[in-house]
Amino acid sequence: MNKSYKIGIIKGDGIGPEIVDEAIKVLDAVSVAQGCNLKYTEMLLGGAAIDETGIPLPKETIKGVKKCDAVLFGAIGGEKWDKLERHLRPESGLLGLRKEMGTFANLRPATVYDELIHASTLKPEVIKGVDLMVVRELTGGLYFGQPRALLKDKAYNTMIYTREEVERIARVAFDIAMKRQKCICSVDKANVLEVSQFWRETVEEIAKEYPEVELTHMYVDNAAMQLIREPKQFDVILTGNIFGDILSDAASMLSGSIGLLPSASIGDGVGLFEPIHGSAPDIAGQGIANPLATISSASMMLRYALGEIKSADKIDTAIKKALKEGYRTGDISDHDAKEIVTCSEMGDIIAEYASK
Ligand code: NAD
Repeated sequence: MNKSYKIGIIKGDGIGPEIVDEAIKVLDAVSVAQGCNLKYTEMLLGGAAIDETGIPLPKETIKGVKKCDAVLFGAIGGEKWDKLERHLRPESGLLGLRKEMGTFANLRPATVYDELIHASTLKPEVIKGVDLMVVRELTGGLYFGQPRALLKDKAYNTMIYTREEVERIARVAFDIAMKRQKCICSVDKANVLEVSQFWRETVEEIAKEYPEVELTHMYVDNAAMQLIREPKQFDVILTGNIFGDILSDAASMLSGSIGLLPSASIGDGVGLFEPIHGSAPDIAGQGIANPLATISSASMMLRYALGEIKSADKIDTAIKKALKEGYRTGDISDHDAKEIVTCSEMGDIIAEYASK
């Protein structure tokens, strides 16, 4: 009998609907070919939710995601909603959803495709063969710490990590490292911040459970520099919420375009799979967005949430094949580009290859 999965779909704002539609096209093609049945339920978040319901994270979405096996998400945000009070803005909806789903670990792979080596601003010899994973703590740290305030003459946020928060994210990173090169670099600012000193000591404790994994530590300012100088030295980077946010965007540029990179947010319950980029309002509605990051996120969903490894492999291979054959969206066009395609055409190509 065919396996059946419930997939939550959150398209969001800007290019969100365009790129998620292409990922669904690919998921449909691969699931038919592999004999599994995906049932989609669409839910609202961010600006689209504000327009429809007045709030960025409706209760129906919170209830809905918990009934799914996994959730595929596009992106949220845009100028239209930027003047709202902070708790009513699209970003608050996404932060709230991650918190509700308990997805405390954000996995962001940064892989350099050989075919796109010239799309990066870095030298080919620096980036050829880069394959690293940033494991970012997602529901604690500076973005959530209390107290926080914006007052007339001052403003502040608080960076807090509890032992439990650091231990559970460290275990995710060590488990991933065991399946990769068995090397972790934990990134912090322990020379200045007490919270980072605590992070470092707690990670050291967890490392004792994984004697095969080599653990090193690096200050975040140096890590930013090393990512650009010699990215191949990294396998798994383990870090907190704000440092991970910044480092994973820097790592994304190794691959040449923010439009290529997927992410998985996992925890104890349902996982959330999304591209690392935002809603790109500057190109929304023009049909030129790169759907590959979202299609790769759908592949991560199949791999990490549903255990459909063969289907995930089919998608990853289809992406490589399309790039090898010279199909490019505008953001990654280079001298190897044979044909500049639209968002929808790229979806068609990947769907066709993945279904074979
Ligand atoms: P962005 O990632 O949306 O865009 C940055 C640049 O990259 C833009 O020039 C954009 O055109 C380009 N780009 C992004 N994705 C692309 C794709 N798939 N194909 C081709 N080009 C792509 O970041 P931003 O401009 O700082 O933010 C725009 C909005 O997105 C803001 O409202 C922000 O708050 C929101 N945002 C949302 C998320 C999320 O939903 N997870 C993440 C970051 C930013």
